[in-house]
Amino acid sequence: MTSHGTHVLVLNSGSSSLKYQLLDMRDSSRLAVGLVERIGENTSRLVHTPRPGGAEGDGGDGGGKRERTGPIADHTAALEAVSAELARDGLGLDSPELAAIGHRVVHGGLKFSAPALVDDAVLAEIERLVPVAPLHNPANLTGIRTAQRLRPDLPQVAVFDTAFHTTMPEHAARYAIDVATADAHRIRRYGFHGTSHAYVSRKTAELLGKDPSEVNVIVLHLGNGASASAIAGGRCVDTSMGLTPLEGLVMGTRSGDIDPAVTFHLKRVAGMSVDEIDELLNKRSGLVGLCGDNDMREIRRRVDEGDERARLAFDIYVHRLKKYIGAYSAVLGRVDAVAFTAGVGENAAPVREAAVAGLENLGLAVDAGLNAVRSDKPRVVSPQGARVTVAVVPTDEELEIAQQTFALVDEGRTAIA
Ligand code: ADP
Repeated sequence: MTSHGTHVLVLNSGSSSLKYQLLDMRDSSRLAVGLVERIGENTSRLVHTPRPGGAEGDGGDGGGKRERTGPIADHTAALEAVSAELARDGLGLDSPELAAIGHRVVHGGLKFSAPALVDDAVLAEIERLVPVAPLHNPANLTGIRTAQRLRPDLPQVAVFDTAFHTTMPEHAARYAIDVATADAHRIRRYGFHGTSHAYVSRKTAELLGKDPSEVNVIVLHLGNGASASAIAGGRCVDTSMGLTPLEGLVMGTRSGDIDPAVTFHLKRVAGMSVDEIDELLNKRSGLVGLCGDNDMREIRRRVDEGDERARLAFDIYVHRLKKYIGAYSAVLGRVDAVAFTAGVGENAAPVREAAVAGLENLGLAVDAGLNAVRSDKPRVVSPQGARVTVAVVPTDEELEIAQQTFALVDEGRTAIA
């Protein structure tokens, strides 16, 4: 049943999009990266880049980028179109080199603390979690089922955003609400971005020349969505996202932490429906709600021009970040490193500088020269000899998903052999 290939296709299915990367696990290189967007519309678009230039992320274009537009009716058609593009480079879904398909699945609840080889029971459990992840899990399921239809013989692996956080102790995971109500509706803090927190915390230990079991790390994943986590000896002990990705840091379009009574107020006093409030807090809040922009580059440009609204948005963003750094320093007791990652964390030096400003008593500082260096490699930005290492550690969720997928399939091969 298992092939002997070394390629892994990573799929990240959204409600109207499909992102993919094909990796060769012999050297973790990218064979192709791409994206189908606006699935189900007349203006669907597929962008495919064979052999992208950069080893990290999907930044490089490798010079051979191909694009096609026109209606792509559903996820099956999207994956067929992707396979056709891959086939042009001899790497289609029927390639004997393909060992497995790894799927990003947003919500794995408490059952999945590790990646899972997809079978009917796994599919049923992902389905059972739809009420707690109504936007994400249905799209992830569609992606898996589509891939199964096209390659029924191939191992499919689900890699969960929540898995890394299942080690959180009860006192960090539970909300202080009536236990029976919470349990009846599976209300607790699950956390997200787990593959990124896992990958970055391991890479940070590597940067320090230590084993992950020896270090305590605060990871700040600052993309459009943003989350912080406290990781003690390689295990997550707290994270800022909760039942859904809405809790915690100020994000591109999400409010992060908010008094839950704001929602009652919006309903009772402002007359908004639950769906309208959901949309307000998830799509029209955070940086975009505060200043109209959610791109940190644009916000910094406006700050530099003296724009007051952008300045306030930046300050609120940084203030929340600082509170989480302080809180997680307390949770961990001893902090060896604070690692910044994702679009904002990797690129926005002013955010890193402002987030640790005034935290010298916690052993935190950045060196202005080191902080200004631009690179896609993990690097230290704190001054030499600092008690806590402040680092920039580029994340790579697709590589992590591919590695976890390949490890699981390889285990199976070894067991069979
Ligand atoms: P996601 O995967 O959550 O969509 P990313 O991790 O790609 O997000 O981060 C996207 C965000 O990163 C953008 O919205 C932008 O704010 C920020 N970003 C990207 N490049 C830069 C940069 N050079 N300077 C500052 N911010 C940047």
